[in-house]
This record gives sequence, C-alpha cells and structure tokens, in this order.
Amino acid sequence: MASQTGAIVQQSLSALMDDPKFLSQLQGELRERSFQSLAAILSTPNKVHKAFLRIALGDGNVVRIPAFRIQHNDALGPYKGGIRFHETVNEEEVTNLAALMTLKNALHEVPFGGGKGGVVINPRNFSDKDLYLICKKYVQYFSDVLGPDKDIPAPDMGTGEREMDWMMAEYKNIHPGHPYLGSFTGKSIVSGGSLGRREATGKGVYFTFRYMLHDYLNEHGGWLSGSDNPFAKTAREHAGRPLSVAVQGFGNVGSVAALEAYKCSALRNRVVAVSDRNVTLYNEEGLDIPALIEYASTNKGDLPGTTEALDGIGLKAQVLGREDVLSLNVDVLFLAALEDQIREDNVSQVQARIIVEGANAPITGEADAILSGKGTIIIPDILANAGGVIVSYFEWLQGRETQFYTETEIFKLLFAKMQKTMNSILPAYFGDSMTLRQSCYVHAVMKLSSVLFRQGKLY
Ligand code: GLU
Repeated sequence: MASQTGAIVQQSLSALMDDPKFLSQLQGELRERSFQSLAAILSTPNKVHKAFLRIALGDGNVVRIPAFRIQHNDALGPYKGGIRFHETVNEEEVTNLAALMTLKNALHEVPFGGGKGGVVINPRNFSDKDLYLICKKYVQYFSDVLGPDKDIPAPDMGTGEREMDWMMAEYKNIHPGHPYLGSFTGKSIVSGGSLGRREATGKGVYFTFRYMLHDYLNEHGGWLSGSDNPFAKTAREHAGRPLSVAVQGFGNVGSVAALEAYKCSALRNRVVAVSDRNVTLYNEEGLDIPALIEYASTNKGDLPGTTEALDGIGLKAQVLGREDVLSLNVDVLFLAALEDQIREDNVSQVQARIIVEGANAPITGEADAILSGKGTIIIPDILANAGGVIVSYFEWLQGRETQFYTETEIFKLLFAKMQKTMNSILPAYFGDSMTLRQSCYVHAVMKLSSVLFRQGKLY
C-alpha cells in the first residue's frame, strides 16, 4: 500500500515534468524548486495527530486504544476523509489513505483537502455501549483540530451512520453555539445526513464503470472504432453480449455495486460471484443479488455461507473460499473489500479483463504494473469510489443551507459530477499511453499544483 501511493505520486510527478502545459505554469529558475516543493507536499502529510483513547469497558477492563487523525493537505479546502475502525490500522496506512483523499478530491473538483482517521479496534469485539464511548473519546481527543471548516470526518471501513451521529453529538457538546451539522458527514437522515449518502459510493462505482464501458463509448463510437486502446477494444468485443461480473466484498460498497450491476439494463451483466470475509458464492448462471442482500441484512451483513443456508432461501450456488473470487474467469471484477487484495504473489491468478476499484488501494503497486502490462483495464479508486465523498460534500452543503435535496436530485448531481471528471480524463487517456490511474493522478496533481503555485506555496 505504501509503495502504491508513493510510486504513483512519483510517476505522476515525472509525467508532469514532461507536460508543457504544466511547465508553463512554473516560471524560469523557480521551476526546479517548485517541483521539489510539490514532491515534498504530496509525499508528506501536513499534520499527524495521534492519541491513546483510554476507555473503561463495560466488562470492567480499562484499555488504551491507539487512534489517529492525519491531515494530509488543505490547499483545496478543509481536510476531508473517513475514520476507519479496523484492527490492522496503523499510521502509515492512514497517511497513505489521507494522501489518496487529497488526490480524489482534487480529481473530482470537490472543494476539500485530504485527511483520514483510524482507530485500532475490531468493532465486532466491542459492545454498542463501548463503541459509543470510543466514538465520544475520539472526538474529545481530536476536538481542536476537527470542525466544519477545518477537518470533516466521514464513515470508512468499520464505521457508519451510527458512529457519525454519536461523534457529531459529541462535537456539538464540546463546541456549544457553533454550527455543527457540517462537522461530520455520513450521518443518519434524522441527524442531518443526506439522502443517497449510504448508497453513494457503490452507485458511483457502478456508474463509473457503465459510463466508461457503455455511455461514453457509445457517444464516441465512431472515433473509437479504430482505436487499439485496451478499453475501446474490450468494449467492442463485449458489445451486445452479457458480461460476467464478480464482486469482492458485500458491505456498503460491494452489495450496492452488485445490485446496480444486477439491475443495469444498458449492459446485460450476469453477476456470477460475490464474496465476503468468509466465502465466495459462485453460479455461472448469475446470482439473485436482491435475495442475498435481504439475507445479509438479517445476518449481521454475512452472506449465506453453507449449502443449507442457501437452500433456506431457495438459492443455488457453489460455496468457495473467500479468496477464490479473485481468480475466477470473469469479464469484470469489482474490488470492494480491503486494500492490498491483489499482490505480486497472487496477481498471476487474476483473469478478469476489467477491474474496478471500489475499495481504496486494493491492488499493490507491483501487481498494478503486472496487470497493466498485460492489458488489464483498471478503473482506479480515486476515479471510481469518489461517490461517497462527493455526496459527503452535498451533505455538508445542505447542512450549511439547512435545506435538503431529494434523493433524485442527489444522484443527478452525483452522476453529473463524476461524468464531468470522466469527460476531462478520457480523451487524454484514449489518446495516450498512460494507464487510467496515471491519467487520473496527473489530472489531480495538475489541479493541486496550480492552486499551490498561485498561492505561493511552491516557492
Ligand atoms: N471514506 C470514504 C472514502 O474513502 C468517504 C470519505 C468522505 O465522505 O469524506 O472516500
């Protein structure tokens, strides 16, 4: 993961050095120094906040839980990014995820910088009451550096509406009389959250895929008909026949992306596999995604993991190991679980022609180079999974205006924003030898560097 973000930042910086548009922004002898400043800014977070949350648990034990808030860059607006509850959370991981947020927001022109938080716990091992205390303590420890105009957290792995509601309430307690609706996003609707926020990431992930493979190519069909860009070639090959789709992860992102793929009338998909932390379910005729979502909603989010459980809801599927989802012979693989899922040691098993990153950094730098080298199309995280933070931005705006949009309005705004980004990336990508990830990084770094330069921060 470290290598992924670091290597990509380096790659996009070298690509920028060859770009005349970029170079003309930087003047004369300042050029060399500006470039060094930019590299330093991107590779180092502005601020690192760490704490040990001391909690008296319900079972009588007192624990000290490591927690982080990392503020990577705020050139484009207040720091913004989720808080992750996971037992493997560490400072390096949170720092890399914060840098990805800076680039994601820059890419989609969301007026926020990048940040990320983390708490080193497995939330499944704590009671609701203990989790409530952990959330309160997190806000108490970091209350000075958070706020609607400073740093705005949101859900990430292991957190959701419930945690954001608790945290916002604590922020309000600590800062009486201050605006608080914009202090956290991803809240429940009754606490001032936005319609559509819960589904935003998964819907945005699927929209990105569909737009690139179908809508955009349809519109530009003539121009692309002779292109040997792998994306255009794949789209031509697949035109008219069903695409087989596998989805890794069946949480907030994976289950929604799987449902969108299942329902999509523009592309005739067959969702043949889904997986969670326990199993992969496979049926080459396609899986009944609504039935699986229904099952998961009453079984702690888990898929039916045995033939008996599948029989119980009248479904037929092979029950495979949880990693098996990665090596199936499918057209499209959505990665919506954790980072570092496809690595140098398992990349050779991956057969999918198109991979969509619903999770952040699910492919390591080494594996990315190998896959790109053999022509696999990778729709990168900062492009595909920005739906969450984009609707977070709408939530923050609605909280300021104290006026709320309908769900239809939210999705219309979301798709328009993602489409605008793709329209600015795709012509360069189709006409260039860069990977889609490199095109996105270059675009984001260009945006960031012009702001930094104009504000005198590259001297
Ligand atoms: N955690 C999400 C992400 O990685 C959402 C962040 C947000 O809404 O601020 O993009």
